[in-house]
Amino acid sequence: MENLEKAIEKIKRELPGLKLLENEPLSAHCSFRIGGPVRALAIPSDVTSLTRICCLLKEQELAPFILGNGTNLLFPDEGLQELFIISTEKLTKLFLLPDGAIYAEAGVSLSKLASFAQQNGLAGLEFASGIPGSLGGGCIMNAGAYGGELKDVIESVVCLYLPDQGMYELTNEQCAFGYRSSYFQTHPGCVVLSAVLRLQPDDGEQIAARMRELNEKRREKQPLDLPSAGSAFKRPQGHFAAALIEQAGLKGYSVGGAQVSEKHAGFVVNTGGATSHDVYDLMLHIRKTVYEHSGVFLEPEMIILAPDYKLEDHGPAVPRHRISILDPNEAPEEPDQA
Ligand SMILES: Cc1cc2nc3c(=O)[nH]c(=O)nc-3n(C[C@H](O)[C@H](O)[C@H](O)COP(=O)(O)OP(=O)(O)OC[C@H]3O[C@@H](n4cnc5c(N)ncnc54)[C@H](O)[C@@H]3O)c2cc1C
Repeated sequence: MENLEKAIEKIKRELPGLKLLENEPLSAHCSFRIGGPVRALAIPSDVTSLTRICCLLKEQELAPFILGNGTNLLFPDEGLQELFIISTEKLTKLFLLPDGAIYAEAGVSLSKLASFAQQNGLAGLEFASGIPGSLGGGCIMNAGAYGGELKDVIESVVCLYLPDQGMYELTNEQCAFGYRSSYFQTHPGCVVLSAVLRLQPDDGEQIAARMRELNEKRREKQPLDLPSAGSAFKRPQGHFAAALIEQAGLKGYSVGGAQVSEKHAGFVVNTGGATSHDVYDLMLHIRKTVYEHSGVFLEPEMIILAPDYKLEDHGPAVPRHRISILDPNEAPEEPDQA
């Protein structure tokens, strides 16, 4: 705590132009619209200031939590008073490289990236046009939809490795992308700064038509009118989480302001005034009921930050937060056989 206050003072002194929000409500920075205040949230305007902040935190043996578009996160109502968050929202450089690949910084939104590709007659990112996250968050999660994943189009990723403050370029293979997983999740401490994407030349009109079709499907099926963090649970092997939840009779089930969407049972939505505890409790209930009904154990897809989440040296910039209430390794008790 003391180290954090020292770091904040030094960051303010060294980077007087930095946008630094103190005791900022996290509900304003995530798609769920849930979360109490964080001690400090910095919004650097470029990679140089981001790396300088990381360096100043490191001097105090602290590591930041990196925020993309906040579309896959559940923050605690109690807030995070011992945390320093860095948002990538202003890292938005985006251009074509001479060899036709796309260079994009971490804060570029996936929808902007998909439109840019379309405008340049490049196919392969149509799936991403309706995903509300940033490229950085997308790399961490290997974001995907409708049969496409970032894994298919990323050529390389540049990241800052917090423990040694070095910049590293990882090839697609080194990123070890899997279903909603990546190298970055198993190796905490990497801040994704930018990526190069390799796409296929195609007719711009046809690309646009495919994007429209997928976005139409999304609007038809998903509860886009209510705050959420997207799919609450990962797709279990051989099943669909939404179908299992619906078969367990949970469509529309609520705890406080959190509800299993009536439109798509795979989403937990905030119907107004939901607390993080409403969401935790609802997710626990879903998991227990689905397990009792079908024997399938659902694993959360969204990243849940516990109220006692703290900064640590080499601390996680990626989803390795302590999940105190929904521990994915802890299976619910076996249902009674009687
Ligand atoms: C309505 C809705 C629909 C959605 N549909 C889909 C879908 O179809 N497919 C899909 O895959 N997802 C979907 N999502 C979930 C979400 O958009 C994706 O997981 C997205 O990739 C998250 O990006 P983000 O920028 O919002 O990340 P955040 O939520 O901000 O962060 C997610 C994680 O990544 C880390 N992180 C973010 N940026 C960086 C960085 N630069 N360096 C290091 N760590 C970083 C954060 O610390 C956090 O651990 C949906 C969400 C919503 C709300």
